[in-house]
Amino acid sequence: MIHDDDKERFVQALLGWFSVNMRDLPWRRDYTPYRVWVSEIMLQQTQMERGVTYFNRWMGRFPDVAAVARAAENDVLKAWEGLGYYSRARNLHRAARLIMQEHGGVFPCRYEDIRALPGVGDYTAGAIASIAFQQDAVAVDANVERVFSRLFDIDTPIKEKENAAFVRHTAQSLLPRGKARLFNQALMELGALVCGKKARCPLCPVQQWCEAFRLGIVQERPVLTARKSIVPIEVATGFLVHQGRIFIQKRPEMGVWAGFWEFPGGCIEQGETAEEAVRREFMEETEFDVVPREKIAVVRHGYTTYRATLHCYLLELRGGSDVPVLHAATESRWVRFAELDGYTLPAGHRKLVDMMAGSLQWQWLQGG
Ligand code: SF4
Repeated sequence: MIHDDDKERFVQALLGWFSVNMRDLPWRRDYTPYRVWVSEIMLQQTQMERGVTYFNRWMGRFPDVAAVARAAENDVLKAWEGLGYYSRARNLHRAARLIMQEHGGVFPCRYEDIRALPGVGDYTAGAIASIAFQQDAVAVDANVERVFSRLFDIDTPIKEKENAAFVRHTAQSLLPRGKARLFNQALMELGALVCGKKARCPLCPVQQWCEAFRLGIVQERPVLTARKSIVPIEVATGFLVHQGRIFIQKRPEMGVWAGFWEFPGGCIEQGETAEEAVRREFMEETEFDVVPREKIAVVRHGYTTYRATLHCYLLELRGGSDVPVLHAATESRWVRFAELDGYTLPAGHRKLVDMMAGSLQWQWLQGG
């Protein structure tokens, strides 16, 4: 944690490290707003090395805002060719023309005016305001988010609104007045060179303030995405019992639960009751015409992305043969209840067996 009376030491450690370790990049030699702007737009979704090559070539072709504004869109796109995400080039072109028309060809210095340029979001506006104009604005990119998620052990997805607000607020409170150019670049450089996906903590100048390092959970931060929303599904299945034995079938070797044994069944379709679904599923998968005699259990089981509710029935054959025609399995068996322990079942089906095994009401089935 960085306590108030420690902020200065933190900043000094960070800036001291940056002054020695900063990479020599072309836009760091001459911080004109135009060069800073182009570098920031170019580096979005572009690797650094590639960005440097394109930046130098771009500056040779378009040395200032006026040169971009004068160019035909095709020429601008041509210079961008190979970088992808061409909306960035189109926005550069539109913004250059806007700067010529509305700002007399002078790159605007007010944060609001910078932010209003096509293709400029919060991060880019903060980067230009601080790096080009030395204003006390923060610039939070993915590198800064990663560093802060570790420094402050942010244990919920970093993109969540409250976390984004926390990171901005904290960056603002740490930012040394008048040194935003260095501070913002130093934080981003730290994220790029030391606190990357694989953190190199022994080299870190701010390790002593890092909560994730102290707790030994650096690789668990940042938490990237919210858990996928869990989709509820309703499933019908059950024990088809015939002459004291239960029908099971083996799933194909590909797909979900590959090679597992199971009781036939599947999702209840819209407008269908669970009983209708279980009859349909048995017919489709085995060509058995079954009759649900009784609902024996409701089993709930959560998987990674969905939560299944299994409506389980005791079923009997309506008549006909007890030899199935398999459509969703590679083999099948009629087994005693006690023998089910010897088969690998999907989790939901195993839960059903366990429930039945613990129920006195179904002892006849277990001893059958
Ligand atoms: S100690 Fe490690 S995890 Fe913490 S800020 Fe430094 S590099 Fe990142």
